[in-house]
Amino acid sequence: MEALELQDVRKSYGNREAVHGISLTVHEGEIFGLIGHNGAGKTTTLRMISTLLRITSGSISVFGHDVATEPDEVRRIISYLPEDAGAYKDLTGRQYMEFMASFFASGEEKAEMVRKGIELADLGERIDSKVDTYSKGMMRRLLIARAIMPSPRLAIMDEVTSGLDVINAYEVREVIRSIAKTGVTVIMSSHNMFEVDMLCDRVGMIDQGNLILLGTPAELKERFGVETLEEVFVKAVKG
Ligand code: ATP
Repeated sequence: MEALELQDVRKSYGNREAVHGISLTVHEGEIFGLIGHNGAGKTTTLRMISTLLRITSGSISVFGHDVATEPDEVRRIISYLPEDAGAYKDLTGRQYMEFMASFFASGEEKAEMVRKGIELADLGERIDSKVDTYSKGMMRRLLIARAIMPSPRLAIMDEVTSGLDVINAYEVREVIRSIAKTGVTVIMSSHNMFEVDMLCDRVGMIDQGNLILLGTPAELKERFGVETLEEVFVKAVKG
């Protein structure tokens, strides 16, 4: 069974279609990257997969569950980290993890979930500092750890490294790699072609609501006879 299948997915806002019939498959255990410039339709696509936006037509299934007819089943096995996610600033990192874990579990199961989240966030003793003292990078690690703490089968991440410096972006990518090694399937969006090249097993390029390319970074670079995904993108868009 595939982790994720999109078949001819369309989304209209009012009478304007933003996503024009995207079909793609993500295999279990893959890190799949969606790339494209501003307004291409990445967030819209990720929000439809996350059951937060209704699909106008087509279908999406997550491990065999249809997002339109079985949204509760889908929600149980995914986590979605939006680009603009934040955490409650008056809580410490640990208190935030405990609060979020209480939506999923109680007793020893909850304690284990929090232990896992704190380990993944890897914030050392700063886990007991208030969240409003965290740097952007620390905040992002906390949020990723929170998203992964309940052990989703599919992690959906929108622009997780945007606005981070080189070191923090590197560390966040390491966290994503370690998540994937535990068997979690990841679909993520990014503007950063270098990052996607480094991190993703396969890539889908979206331009103006259309999926224009799909393949491994190596396949795409070979197909266009270029060295970088950035060049692939420019050639694909400009012809
Ligand atoms: P970015 O990289 O800037 O986040 P994106 O690829 O995630 O862009 P989307 O946010 O999915 O793109 O937007 C796709 C298109 O849909 C854009 O033209 C956008 O203006 C439009 N759009 C998104 N959300 C809405 C909305 N709630 N109402 C109307 N139009 C919207």
